[in-house]
Amino acid sequence: MKDYPQLYINGQWVNSASDDRIEVINPANGELYATVPAANHSDIDAAVAAAKAAFDSFSTTSADYRRGLIHAIADGMEARKDELIEAIVNTMGCPIALTDEIQVQGSIDAFRSFASLAGEMDHSETFDNYITVKEAVGVCVLINPWNYPLSQLAGKLGPALAAGCTTVLKPAEQTPLQDLILADIIHNAGVPAGVVNVLTAVGSDIGDYLCSHPQVDMVSFTGSTLAGIKVAQAAAPSVKRVCQELGGKSPYIIAPGADLAAAVRYGVEDVMINSGQTCCALTRMLVPAESLKEAEQIAASVAAEWQPGNPLAPETMLGPVSSHKQQQRINSFIRQGIDEGAKLVCGGQLTDPALANGAYVPPTIFSNVSNDMTIAKEEIFGPVLCILPYETLEQAIQIANDTPYGLSSGVYAKDAEEARQIARRIRAGQCYIQGALFNTDAPFGGYKQSGNGREWGVIGLHEYTETKALII
Ligand code: NAD
Repeated sequence: MKDYPQLYINGQWVNSASDDRIEVINPANGELYATVPAANHSDIDAAVAAAKAAFDSFSTTSADYRRGLIHAIADGMEARKDELIEAIVNTMGCPIALTDEIQVQGSIDAFRSFASLAGEMDHSETFDNYITVKEAVGVCVLINPWNYPLSQLAGKLGPALAAGCTTVLKPAEQTPLQDLILADIIHNAGVPAGVVNVLTAVGSDIGDYLCSHPQVDMVSFTGSTLAGIKVAQAAAPSVKRVCQELGGKSPYIIAPGADLAAAVRYGVEDVMINSGQTCCALTRMLVPAESLKEAEQIAASVAAEWQPGNPLAPETMLGPVSSHKQQQRINSFIRQGIDEGAKLVCGGQLTDPALANGAYVPPTIFSNVSNDMTIAKEEIFGPVLCILPYETLEQAIQIANDTPYGLSSGVYAKDAEEARQIARRIRAGQCYIQGALFNTDAPFGGYKQSGNGREWGVIGLHEYTETKALII
């Protein structure tokens, strides 16, 4: 068991003002893996005060200086990559075979791409009788979930530092370790005291205090829609900026004439990766009714390639879900799907007794799902795919949009041009066309109840800026 005794505040490792600890459980076996401090209000005051004190000086540093610092952080991450991988595998169960690629290396690359965007802060735009410039927004609280704990951090901390903001990081209580490792990397990279502070804490205990703090200028929150609403409510009286990156129930339209084998494979793999714990996963697959049987067969054979196993075994592609609580939640959705009359094509119940102690869920595919079933409406956040038949493309688009969410979507048609036309009619912040992959330069964020912010790339940088008009 690893013990992380301290918080990182004002450029130093310090004891928490509280004696409370958070237990970090390994979801692969249910055993205690680490403990970290549970920060309290005094710790928050100290971290925010440090960030506030550092802001004037850090926000006026040159873009070159900040670019160098961010590259130095990325270099430190490269050097301690194995430690970051180990922390993520053992706290959220992502298979070791995938963790480097989907959790760690992408985060390092993302830091580097934000380093190259620091120069954007020097750009001004000249109009007839005024000039606009961008300035750092201020002290930013960055709250993250557990599913891609490092890359979500890179998607917030990278642009915040590039813009010249100072920060307080609050990782999910299930996955705090990569933030503590990163604090050490940041310290060794020479980032000035107070620019980055790390508080490990239980979000529901300290969220109101942290998000309503008068010296915080912005909260960037990624997590569930429910917690995102609470964050916005806490932040509202002080009129701080809130960037919400929330849940999803994303549709994936396979149009008539598409290459069914390729399209279905892409959709199943998209849902199974990271044990279905991807906010933008395309969990509602819309298939022409006449192709339903064939789609089910293809989906079942692809799902069979994703058998759950120990995340430390090099051949494992599907690890446990992130906690036993999450496992119970997913199992209850699976039972509801069966009770509401969906056809269980595969999965549902774990059969391997060797995995009984872990939070495992087998790859599960439901077919003949209608959009009013619970499994089609609620974000399950597990390796569960719903296949919904449709009669006409118009009906498919209507079903795709019939959701309170609007985070992502996908279209696979007979060609890219037709797919693009369908994509323009889906109310979601992203649309993956013909099997496209995640792109960290493209803006990412939700319509409707999936959020109001945009992360990644230059638009993600602008979230951390104010626009000032210099009137001539
Ligand atoms: P969660 O909302 O329970 O927790 C997310 C973070 O918020 C954690 O750090 C938690 O401690 C903190 N938190 C909880 N209550 C809080 C409060 N009242 N005030 C302040 N902070 C609080 O979500 P989760 O279960 O960790 O993550 C899964 C959810 O995150 C899913 O809904 C998923 O779709 C969503 N998500 C969205 C994106 C996106 O970019 N849109 C990305 C990843 C995950």
